[in-house]
Amino acid sequence: MSSSNSPSFSESSSSNFRGRGANKHTAPITCYCGCSLRVQTSWTKANPGRRFMSCPIRGMNKCGYFVWLDPELSDRSTDIIVGLVEKWKTTKEKLAKSNERVRLLMSLQSVHGS
Ligand SMILES: [Zn+2]
Repeated sequence: MSSSNSPSFSESSSSNFRGRGANKHTAPITCYCGCSLRVQTSWTKANPGRRFMSCPIRGMNKCGYFVWLDPELSDRSTDIIVGLVEKWKTTKEKLAKSNERVRLLMSLQSVHGS
């Protein structure tokens, strides 16, 4: 489990924020090809829950714009978050299964009870 595939996009972060002082948060952020960007959340095992912005044109990867918003997680935090997500998923599956069983039992009961 040694996944050290750190992306090499770090040059495109926040370097142009000097100069206009006033409304730096109101300006729409766009990628290199002019699409307005939305914050997305990564759910890969390497970067669980880490927010990023990238070019919304997927697949073709038109301009390759990609910026992490959250700092890189430590291996420990990554392990913990991945573990929690896994646990949550299995809990949800178990709950769905037991709900199904309850529904089955109830339908059987209603058949026998009437
Ligand atoms: Zn783009």
